[in-house]
Amino acid sequence: MQKKAAAYARISTDKQNQTSLEAQFKEIAAYAESVGFAIVERYQDIMTASGAMERPGFTLMVNRAKAGMYDAIIVFKLDRWERDNIEDAIIVRELERLGVYVLSVSERYDPTTPSGRFHRGILSLTNTFYLDNLKDEVYRKTTASAERGIFQGGYPPYGYKLVKEFVPELKKEVTKYALDPVEAQIAKRILEMVAAGKSYQTVIDWLESVGAKTRKGGPWAKSAVYEMARNEKYTGTFTYRIGKKRNKRFRRDDTIRVEDAHPAIIDKATWDKIQSTRRQHTHKKSDGAGLLLRGLVFCGDCGSLMTNMGQERYRCSASMRNRKFKSVSVKAAKLEANVTTTVRDHLVRCKLDYEIIAKEFNAMVAEERIGLQTRAQELDVRIAAIKTKMQNAVRAILEGSPLAKMLEEESKGLAKELKMLEVEREREMEGEKEEIEPERLREMFEQQLRALDGDAKARWDLYRTLIKRVVVFPGGMFQVEFYD
Ligand SMILES: [Zn+2]
Repeated sequence: MQKKAAAYARISTDKQNQTSLEAQFKEIAAYAESVGFAIVERYQDIMTASGAMERPGFTLMVNRAKAGMYDAIIVFKLDRWERDNIEDAIIVRELERLGVYVLSVSERYDPTTPSGRFHRGILSLTNTFYLDNLKDEVYRKTTASAERGIFQGGYPPYGYKLVKEFVPELKKEVTKYALDPVEAQIAKRILEMVAAGKSYQTVIDWLESVGAKTRKGGPWAKSAVYEMARNEKYTGTFTYRIGKKRNKRFRRDDTIRVEDAHPAIIDKATWDKIQSTRRQHTHKKSDGAGLLLRGLVFCGDCGSLMTNMGQERYRCSASMRNRKFKSVSVKAAKLEANVTTTVRDHLVRCKLDYEIIAKEFNAMVAEERIGLQTRAQELDVRIAAIKTKMQNAVRAILEGSPLAKMLEEESKGLAKELKMLEVEREREMEGEKEEIEPERLREMFEQQLRALDGDAKARWDLYRTLIKRVVVFPGGMFQVEFYD
């Protein structure tokens, strides 16, 4: 009997020059036939810029595949370019574990073999490494600037405004935080109330009773007070990179803190008090330890999966359910650190063919560039049109047109739109990648492998590419089994 497959295609409303749904299905069908699958169902999604994460077609297909309706799902293209796509990667691996193949027309790796999976992983890793290198330069610059307590973008917290300040050593003006006289007083009172143990609702009630509005002129929300209570900037300490890094589950290790960088609204004692009251009603969160090896760790005594459920240790899942199994466990952080070392050694021994990797990577870069250039050209046309419109408006105003008032308003709107388009175009071109030489690729790999400890996402991909399983024995000894 022929094996059954579901076909999946999608398009984005905000992208030009993409393969139409019909054309995608046609290619999928041809591919399916060549590998011996019969398409029994079609799924599709039309993605909009706003609802980017909503994929009803995809979700339905995956659920049905998990229920065993198909032997494979065939997509036109996988989202391998999206860096934070751990969830999708999990879905793919989960389907594969259930025996459902995930095939891609555009990326023809055979996921049914270890070498095909290895191939896919290495390419995804190449992209990750490449983007990291690209970002390094920008990262170093912003780090140096942030270490001086210089504002790096975003909105100043309530109570502060932004001011320009000339820094002689840098020979330029920089942006810093300064007190907003009115807001700062209210902010101080809010934080003192939180420090005294008052509930967020009490704070809100007080704000309402004195008629205090948010910066936008609206009523206060509990979430706003909550955000304030966890913002260390109020102590005069400049903080940067405290939020998510690629994946919010991983705590950052590159946060920058500069004490006494700007005027304080509360003192350190008040801040400490707030943090201790806050801790009473927030529960301990997992900082990502345990996620890295999820699904890869097995008990050496009984062969069951070992899980850690956000705890500090991986435990044999059978022993948690039934006492007759030996209680095998290991500290998650320790296991992860040791596996990282083992993986690094393994990769150094693995002979990668950089010629082939570079060739395939460059083919994808070229394909991506065509899309970017088309988009840039389209933006250029729109920018030029707006400029002409604005010039016409200026001329009409100068000539004393009776519509001057209206044209002036319109020009303001146009100027805003122009600015947005220009920013968008700049951002678009930042995404452009360049082809890479095999030799450079090798250097990049070696350099990145040394830094492997830092990047959880790269490790996540890598581990699943290379590791068949990690077996933990009673007493905590472990063994990493690699794919051949
Ligand atoms: Zn066990």
